[in-house]
Amino acid sequence: MADRGLLIVLSGPSGVGKGTVREAIFKDPETRFEYSISMTTRRPRDGEKDGIDYYFRSRAEFEEAIREGKMLEYAEYVGNYYGTPLEYVEEKLASGIDIFLEIEVQGALQVKEKMPEGVFVFLTPPDLAELKNRIIGRGTESLDIVDERMETARKEIELMSSYDYAVVNDLVPEAVRKIKAIIETEHLKTKRVIHHYKKMLEGLK
Ligand code: 5GP
Repeated sequence: MADRGLLIVLSGPSGVGKGTVREAIFKDPETRFEYSISMTTRRPRDGEKDGIDYYFRSRAEFEEAIREGKMLEYAEYVGNYYGTPLEYVEEKLASGIDIFLEIEVQGALQVKEKMPEGVFVFLTPPDLAELKNRIIGRGTESLDIVDERMETARKEIELMSSYDYAVVNDLVPEAVRKIKAIIETEHLKTKRVIHHYKKMLEGLK
């Protein structure tokens, strides 16, 4: 039987560019993992297709899927539901295929509860990495603005602490390269490969 696939979860604060990074990853013909298409109640944007960009569903249909336990996770974001159908993820992981989710932070925390063996990557806004400059650098901001920025940064850093990796989204190709390196490294963890060696040894007895 194939090894179980790796579940990769890319998340991060709103507006950080998760979608752009995900698109760049899947444009690369060398990408070996599969994207889990989400379900949403929002309307399709121009050019978006059902079953490719999202499964576009009504609220009633989405709520039925929740009731029937068909969602790995879901969240309400700007008045619409977004969620990951469980069956596809389960099937692919069981057949040894790596699955990639690109979801907002509430959903990522639910996945972490249910599948803690996943790899959780937090995409970090570049300005968070330059916190001090941004917040007090120019020295011209009012105290209110400084407080507001501190609060946003505090929340983002708190969120980051539940993840395994933080990748700054400064240059998209760099972020993509780092995410791929993370996935490659995760596959090399001894806990993922040692059983092959043990089996081999047994076969030699
Ligand atoms: P958009 O409407 O721009 O396509 O996506 C809005 C937000 O929903 C993005 O932050 C995206 O990461 C998030 N999102 C997309 N699919 C899912 C999903 O299946 N579950 C959760 N929790 N968030 C999702």
